[in-house]
Amino acid sequence: MKRRLFINGAWVDTRDYSMLRSPYSGEVIAEIPVAGEEDIEQAIQAAYEAGTVMARMPAYQRAAILERLSGLIEARAGEAARLLALEVAKPIRTAMLEVERTIETYRFAAEEAKRIHGETLPLDASKSGEGRLAYTLREPLGVIGAITPFNFPMNLVAHKVGPAIAAGNAIVLKPASQSPLSSLFIAELLQEAGLPDGALNVVTGSGRLIGERIVTDDRVRMITFTGSPAVGIGIRNQAGLKRVTLELGSNSALIVDKGVRIDDIIDRSVTGAFANQGQVCISLQRVYVHEEVHDEFVDQFIQRTRQLKIGDPLDPATDVSAVISPEDVRRLLDWIEEARQAGATIATGGCADGNVLHPTVILEAGSKLKVCCQEVFGPIVVINQVKSVDEAIQQVNESRFGLQAGIYTEHVHTALHAADQLHVGGVMINDIPSFRVDHMPYGGVKESGIGREGIKYAIEEMTEMKLVVWKK
Ligand code: NAP
Repeated sequence: MKRRLFINGAWVDTRDYSMLRSPYSGEVIAEIPVAGEEDIEQAIQAAYEAGTVMARMPAYQRAAILERLSGLIEARAGEAARLLALEVAKPIRTAMLEVERTIETYRFAAEEAKRIHGETLPLDASKSGEGRLAYTLREPLGVIGAITPFNFPMNLVAHKVGPAIAAGNAIVLKPASQSPLSSLFIAELLQEAGLPDGALNVVTGSGRLIGERIVTDDRVRMITFTGSPAVGIGIRNQAGLKRVTLELGSNSALIVDKGVRIDDIIDRSVTGAFANQGQVCISLQRVYVHEEVHDEFVDQFIQRTRQLKIGDPLDPATDVSAVISPEDVRRLLDWIEEARQAGATIATGGCADGNVLHPTVILEAGSKLKVCCQEVFGPIVVINQVKSVDEAIQQVNESRFGLQAGIYTEHVHTALHAADQLHVGGVMINDIPSFRVDHMPYGGVKESGIGREGIKYAIEEMTEMKLVVWKK
């Protein structure tokens, strides 16, 4: 089915189209417009003009639009999950979870829209401030350029569109080329929910062309990007003084201390490693296990991994389906081979059927191997034995990335020590690093990015503080 661009409240055709194929079956699922220069210009100009309308819209109306959007997604949740299963091969049960999260994310945005405020300042704390009243306001920035990845095409768009509307901004959205359908679906529902024309524009097509145009256009005041470090760093270098938030990748790690009941943590750890084929920015990639519980953890982890059901994303029984592209399957197999040749053990998996890479567990992979030090972004996990939690912390921190980390321990002092020492954006005590709910502050250090999402925190990034001083 042929799709159209969404610009200034209208569905518009363009010159070129590309075929969108299912990563699992290879079948064509839609024809997607490839936006040209003119389309991008129109989208930016429409957002620029709608920015004034949005800035004037009172908070209760912005909240009502977001609340209505939540309800509309809820009413069509099954259809939304199916889109995700089709365009990115997300197993349908996992896709439904993403849809549920998306509904909640827009609801959080609706609530936060009503709590955007500044503060009063005691100017008379300074001698020269005496006799003055001061307060701050938070104003929308205007046009937000949002660039999103393929792996959570609905909820990560919600993390940009939700706070942008809540704060009174207009948006030009560029979804990943592999996942345009869910963004076009949201545009349709937002129009139905009453969003003014031009306040959301969806331009599909080349990441490089659209990305460069919106990153370098003066009318766009902020870029909110989620994706790979390489693209994110390029954006930052092009953006000049434009505000930029970057939610990038990671090789997230879990520490398992001695004394932990392994039975209790296996299911959760296996889910953290292989949900959505490991294509999650906080997917569990490295596990450092204390030598006293190492063998038990490894045995149970492998056993549970072998029980995962591989197959069609539309089958409700499927746990693991296709990786996003054949190139990624080849890359992952190369990385596994590198580990094998360096002496690591491939304990299970290590092979592919079509685009489905079997869930792979690698033991004792050295820290310089790609499966350890780079972002795998696929169904591969490394389990290494350590002599102490301190050794594990040192290994976790020996990374270019720092998004989230987890530690299972029975000892409160060990937990506090880990929370103190781990160099990441978020530390999960007695959970895997992959824990996220959508109102918590979320973001990384080092090459995992700059800025925070989680609706309230994204609104801070998407508004400008203005100071007002009155002389009495
Ligand atoms: P990607 O290749 O970096 O693409 C992300 C987006 O950037 C896509 O819309 C892409 O468009 C666009 N793009 C490509 N080249 C561009 C350029 N030169 N300028 C501007 N935009 C450009 O990432 P992905 O493969 O879709 O997603 C996987 C990555 O996202 C992983 O690294 C993962 O860790 C990260 N991620 C991070 C978080 C987080 O919250 N920290 C969450 C999810 C994912 P095209 O698709 O058209 O190329």
